[in-house]
Amino acid sequence: MKTIAIIGSGFAGLSSAFYLSKEFQVSIFDPNGIGKGASGASTGLLHPYPGQQGRRSWKADEGLAATLRLLDIAQQEMEEPISIRNGIVKIGECAGAGEDVEKLGENHFLIHSGVTVFAGLYLEGLWRACQKQGVQLHLEAIEKLEDLARFDYVIVAAGAGVRNFPEASHLKLNFVKGQALVCEQSEPQERSITGKQYIALTENPNKCHVGATYERYFTSEYPSLEIALHLLKPSLPVLGVKSGIRVTNPAHYFPILEKINERTWVVTALGSRGLLYHAYLAEQLTKECLAYAEREALV
Ligand SMILES: Cc1cc2nc3c(=O)[nH]c(=O)nc-3n(C[C@H](O)[C@H](O)[C@H](O)COP(=O)(O)OP(=O)(O)OC[C@H]3O[C@@H](n4cnc5c(N)ncnc54)[C@H](O)[C@@H]3O)c2cc1C
Repeated sequence: MKTIAIIGSGFAGLSSAFYLSKEFQVSIFDPNGIGKGASGASTGLLHPYPGQQGRRSWKADEGLAATLRLLDIAQQEMEEPISIRNGIVKIGECAGAGEDVEKLGENHFLIHSGVTVFAGLYLEGLWRACQKQGVQLHLEAIEKLEDLARFDYVIVAAGAGVRNFPEASHLKLNFVKGQALVCEQSEPQERSITGKQYIALTENPNKCHVGATYERYFTSEYPSLEIALHLLKPSLPVLGVKSGIRVTNPAHYFPILEKINERTWVVTALGSRGLLYHAYLAEQLTKECLAYAEREALV
């Protein structure tokens, strides 16, 4: 069986590991353990109408369907619910509203397809599903791709860490820091609400996420409560702050899945839509790797 090394254990790395491990022997490398990058900081909003104008995202149907498939798989590994599937309220514009959107009032929409994912629990469930398929985790940082020369193929799913690999330096990428506050809510809401700012439900009915910041200029990747409070001005009592770096494609909001050399693929630029795109990209990547392996076997 061919071997694959995956750099990174966020949404991109774990979803890739899950599908690839059905066909290949997969090892994940991440010095921080499972989901400690942007994915662990994610506030879990999954819907296809992001941004101020709420235009429908590229590959919205495929992305949603692929993520729901993986959510079901991860849910089977967990005892507690890992998501809430009762829609998301959007305040503002929803220019691309499709059949899954109901207008509730002026600038007020219910996105029926919206799901709130409890990112930490989802990552744990996905990791358990990966382990059942024999995926191994190595708590190691990969400094250069040659360090993985013993593997047949390599997948770089390193989030903001992609910038450390010269082989991917041709990709035009932006890095935007995001911070979200963990707040207390005495009256639990029924649904997450998104708009200029958002309030996302968590697995604890008395806690919510208020987010998120889009910091183009930042000096530290670590959380800064002071900056998050200044930018988000929450009206709820604050319990903590989380941060992560989003990788975005400055040309447009499409994610990137690219083969960068004979044996290496990069999955990156999931931006603020990691939940919409990671599972879809993992399915596409697996098809590409399989087709490539089959072609190689014929040579
Ligand atoms: C505050 C915040 C809120 C967000 N909210 C949402 C949301 O509500 N909905 C949504 O869809 N998206 C949201 N996002 C965006 C989403 O989190 C990202 O799109 C997604 O997490 C990107 O996943 P990834 O796997 O590409 O990267 P990451 O999750 O960052 O994973 C990369 C991993 O690679 C590892 N790594 C890096 N370099 C190396 C190396 N050299 N060797 C080994 N390992 C390495 C890191 O440790 C990390 O674990 C949010 C982001 C932030 C910051």
